[in-house]
Amino acid sequence: MTFMRMILVKSFLRTGFCVAFTFVELLVVMTIISILAAVLLPALNKAKQRAYIVECVSNLHQIGIGLKMYVDENQDTFPPVDARCFLGGIDGTNSLMGPLPAATNRLLAPYVPGSETFHCPADRGTDGGFLRPSVFGGLGCSYQFSTLPWHSYLGIAEDVDHNLCLKKESWPPDPARFITMHEWGAYPQAVWDLFGGVNVVQWHNASHPGQVYESRSWIHPTIQEAPEKFVAPVLFVDGHSQQCDFTTVIKSNQFALLTRRGTGCGTSR
Ligand SMILES: [Zn+2]
Repeated sequence: MTFMRMILVKSFLRTGFCVAFTFVELLVVMTIISILAAVLLPALNKAKQRAYIVECVSNLHQIGIGLKMYVDENQDTFPPVDARCFLGGIDGTNSLMGPLPAATNRLLAPYVPGSETFHCPADRGTDGGFLRPSVFGGLGCSYQFSTLPWHSYLGIAEDVDHNLCLKKESWPPDPARFITMHEWGAYPQAVWDLFGGVNVVQWHNASHPGQVYESRSWIHPTIQEAPEKFVAPVLFVDGHSQQCDFTTVIKSNQFALLTRRGTGCGTSR
């Protein structure tokens, strides 16, 4: 045995033969494995992201069925605004938004089987310590009902009475494009100053899920600097759910998604 063979990996086969590898052979194997990993991992990640989208679209579809049953049993009326983040799911752990409704008391609990239906698999929360590691864990639900509770006073909302909340089922003007439910990701959130700035989080397909982007750069990068597209599944009033790419509409006018027909997605009729 030479000096080069001092570093050996030995394994014994059932037959009793001893198989030995030199350091160079081991190096070759490790190189091949790392090349294969470099090629396969991005493909596996893409497949995982696609699976997340499919699951999320399915979640919203089931929520849409449950919401339809709720509306039918409540004088054709959509849920009230205080249920906007809590239509179903689990007991949340975040106390910053005040006492959260228990999972069993949430309006869609009797209509949508399984609390996981309210869990977006790409949900990684929002950064800054608020709602980490996930909105689902913090509030008990990854999705929000279409409301504009923090924006209407700025005159952005076309309807100052919280959009769909407590509206009759016949009220939405374009049901195939009017958003009913959306996740926290890829959707404008709180107005954080008197000038009407918004922030947006990326979840699906994001290299840094949970990263917040702002319309003006104060703490976080700007929306224009976001590296990936703002992609998210959405449920529409007509009951269909689909993946939407909001990148163009968010980067051109952050408020457009908050208006009735500014979704940039859905099927116009
Ligand atoms: Zn999702």
